[in-house]
Order: sequence, then C-alpha cells, then structure tokens
Amino acid sequence: MQLLKDRICKDGKVKAGNVLKVDSFLNHQIDINLYQEIGKEFKSRFSDCDITKILTIEASGIGIACITAQYFNVPVVFAKKSRTLNISNDVYSSRVHSFTHNNENDIIVSKEFLLPEDKILIIDDFLANGCSVEGLAHIVSLAGASLVGVGIVIEKGFQDGGDNLRKKGMRIESLARIKSMSEDKGFTFYP
Ligand code: 5GP
Repeated sequence: MQLLKDRICKDGKVKAGNVLKVDSFLNHQIDINLYQEIGKEFKSRFSDCDITKILTIEASGIGIACITAQYFNVPVVFAKKSRTLNISNDVYSSRVHSFTHNNENDIIVSKEFLLPEDKILIIDDFLANGCSVEGLAHIVSLAGASLVGVGIVIEKGFQDGGDNLRKKGMRIESLARIKSMSEDKGFTFYP
C-alpha cells in the first residue's frame, strides 16, 4: 500500500532494538483518513472471504480493527492483556511474549464472544516475531472457530514472524512489509 509506505518513510522513527515508532499517525496520534484507507485495503484483500468477526489485541490493534470492521460489517472482539494468573473458566487464554515491553502477558477473550461457527480475521498493527498473532490464533483454535486470515498494517519482514506463520499455512496480508530500516539510511520494502 503505497500511501502507507510513503507515510512510514516520511514520519516513521527508527529506535534502538528494531523498534519502529509510528506514533504521529498510527498508534498514538491517529490519522483517521489513513485508517480509512487501511480498512478499505483490508476489505479488498480479503474480499473473497466470508468473515463473521474481527479479532485483535489491545491496545493499538483496536482502532484499526474497528475501522476495518465497518467495511466488513462485522463485530470486533479484542483480546485483553491480563497479568493475573487467576483466569476464570469463562475465558480462553494464551500466553504471549510482548516484543515492545519484553514481558509475558496472558491474553484473554471471553468464551461468549467466540463461537465454533465464527470465521475470524485477525488484525494487528505490527508483525515482528509473530507472538501476538500466534496467541490470537491459539485462542481461535481453543474456541473451535476458523481462522480465515491475518491482516497486518506493518510487517517487519527482517524478523522471522511472518515467514514462520506463512510456513504454518496462515494467510498473512501485510500492507507494508519492511525489508530494512535504519535511522540514517531510511526504509526499504518488499514489493
Ligand atoms: P510480535 O508479537 O509479532 O513479536 O510483535 C507484534 C506486537 O508487538 C504488535 O502488537 C505491536 O504492538 C508490537 N510491536 C512489535 N514491533 C513493533 C515496532 O517496531 N513498533 C511498534 N510500535 N510496535 C511493535
């Protein structure tokens, strides 16, 4: 998605530890026009699919998932991050390592919101090592629902999450797939 790649080049900030900050347009201040274009693009990439729900993870996935859901006309369910271990019987849970915070979270989704007949599209802002998507996919499988695909706004293609998930047979659509990034040389992208 050229609009997004251009914006990353213009406003993205490369930080230590392979972290890309896109706080000025994607996940702190939000450019709502760009969000709309992102939602439309996901709709067009998954137009061949029957989707009943969008699943994401708090916090930065929620806004993107909501705009996207308007184009599919389906509800959004977001996994909550819980640090407590006393998880009730009414939730599906999965343990996820956080790339940005370098800690472990149990992510939980109430059982009432994911049903075996659901066809799920996972949406998230970033794909790095793939732990978030793996955790969400695990929750989809615990519910007995079907995972239709995964829509990612920015994939850091130099980390191995995307390749590993594709090898497992997941359909991943990334709107910008970064090949390399550095503070002085800027960005290159996969086609
Ligand atoms: P993964 O689980 O694939 O290793 O990392 C994906 C999650 O970590 C995303 O939900 C995202 O919030 C966060 N993340 C990973 N890499 C970056 C990054 O470079 N910048 C930002 N802002 N978030 C990231």
